Amino acid sequence: MTPQIVTHFIWSCSMPIHPQFLTTSVHAGSDPEPVTGAVNTPLFFTSTYVQEAPGQPKVYDYSRAGNPTRAALEKGYAEIEGGKHAITFASGLAAEQAVVQMLDPGDEVIVCDDTYGGTGRLFRRILAKYQIKFHFVDMTDLRNFESFLSEKTKLVWIESPTNPLMRIIDIEAVCQRARLRGARVLVDNTFASPIFQRPLDLGADMVLHSSTKYLGGHSDLIGGVVMVRDDELAEKIRFIQFAGGAVPGVMECFLLHRSLKTLAIRMQQHEKNAMEVAQFLETHPKIERVYYPGLPSHPQYELARRQMLGFSGMVSFYLKGSFEDTKALLKKLKIFLLAESLGGVESLINHPETMTHASVPPDMRRQLGISYNLLRLSCGIEHGADLVDDLRQALDSV
Ligand SMILES: *Cc1c(COP(=O)(O)O)cnc(C)c1O
Repeated sequence: MTPQIVTHFIWSCSMPIHPQFLTTSVHAGSDPEPVTGAVNTPLFFTSTYVQEAPGQPKVYDYSRAGNPTRAALEKGYAEIEGGKHAITFASGLAAEQAVVQMLDPGDEVIVCDDTYGGTGRLFRRILAKYQIKFHFVDMTDLRNFESFLSEKTKLVWIESPTNPLMRIIDIEAVCQRARLRGARVLVDNTFASPIFQRPLDLGADMVLHSSTKYLGGHSDLIGGVVMVRDDELAEKIRFIQFAGGAVPGVMECFLLHRSLKTLAIRMQQHEKNAMEVAQFLETHPKIERVYYPGLPSHPQYELARRQMLGFSGMVSFYLKGSFEDTKALLKKLKIFLLAESLGGVESLINHPETMTHASVPPDMRRQLGISYNLLRLSCGIEHGADLVDDLRQALDSV
């Protein structure tokens, strides 16, 4: 194929972004500040608030409980995700911890096996100590998932697309089965972003993001958020946060709100670039296999098309060759930076086995296919052809 044909093919494949998100991104939670009319909510750097009489605060009393800069961001997040409440946290993992802290000893959680490495570490090494049982299961197989469901199951934890292998879990089907058993479902929507996947509409009770990634989008902060529709559930999570204290700082809230304004337009470019890169890699003789939900060769392409509004910016692939070849490739890349994390404007490459997923038990890594020649790309918002050229020159040299 000539480059022109490739480009044409790409544009006919990416899904057009829902126009509503372009407007919502810019305006969500952005009410002018009432006193001065400032278009952006100012940074309220304050820990406490003067009260008119004992026990009668105006709105806020202490910034662990609430802060106007944070409240504006939370309003914006609830709007973009189609939730009613958003509770923002100091990190994605702090948000995860708060959700699990709603459970009691003896409760069980079903977690998809191919999760973010830090999620598994938190569950296995910290939260399992409190007699909460975590079952790590392959949820792409619904029967397998159902065999773990019981009256003890209080929470089902989905990450889709999964990390790093981009497997797709049928969110609607899992939610239906969980609801019959009275279990709540949380979807970690970090990889898809609210622009490309709407778990609350598919039946999930909670949506969680590491806002460190696409929501923040500039690799300059750490943050997390949980979005829900149910008032009582929101109250519970908020209380745990208030009692435990894992709140985000004011500067982070301001930057995240600023990032929200460009979320839709960034996601559009992330996806376009990922599609271009995935299609290039798929035809390259030195590549064994590419995983991108937007490729018809993806084992769950049909489900991805049905469930997602777009395929996002993450691509994984296996290089043909040894660990030495893998390291040589990483050395040759000029635009893709070797780093953990994802979802920023700049393109990153990650070696899951030694980096993001080093904390996954070796047996499980092997079983999941996280091997020495697996690489994961976070395609940034640069010019797509430059990303392809960078990969091409690096592949040519190994
Ligand atoms: C990064 C990440 C997390 C953890 O978030 P932090 O902000 O790093 O605490 C959770 N889930 C997914 C999918 C992630 O990529």
